Amino acid sequence: MVYEFSIRTFEPQEFIDITTYIYRAIDASGIENGICHVFIPHTTAGVTINENADPDVVDDILGELNMLVPAHDGYAHIEGNSAAHIKSSMMGVSLQVIIHGASLLMGRWQGIYLAEFDGPRNRTVYVKIQPDPEHFKTIDLQEVEVEVEDKVEVEDKVEVEDKVEDEKSNE
Ligand code: ZN
Repeated sequence: MVYEFSIRTFEPQEFIDITTYIYRAIDASGIENGICHVFIPHTTAGVTINENADPDVVDDILGELNMLVPAHDGYAHIEGNSAAHIKSSMMGVSLQVIIHGASLLMGRWQGIYLAEFDGPRNRTVYVKIQPDPEHFKTIDLQEVEVEVEDKVEVEDKVEVEDKVEDEKSNE
């Protein structure tokens, strides 16, 4: 199932919380458990997950992105909106969230944002709801304990480096 939402942005740059749209798609799908893919078909906007409680957070993100990527910096792109293209690639145009019990498995303070970098425009958001296969019996969250030492296997790391060396010598 794929759902399409049209979103009008009103500012040259802004973060719009689209979490409720994603929930609308999940509700329409009737899916209890699976994966939700969010994708936007744009090159001057992005999608990201960040704090939904204090609006200053997304304002700060936008402010720092503008410091990192100046509006004018001798860009070659004739259209004059290279900064927006660069910020789009920095944010990315897709993300995934786990659907568990017909709800998004996100943190309490997390929201899904459409990031407009070259507005105002009409933007499209695609939401693909991918249900778990029927043989997946998702009943509860399964907690798996991982020893910190298991995570960083020094020997494994050496092997990976060796492999890279081998590949280089094959060039
Ligand atoms: Zn452009």
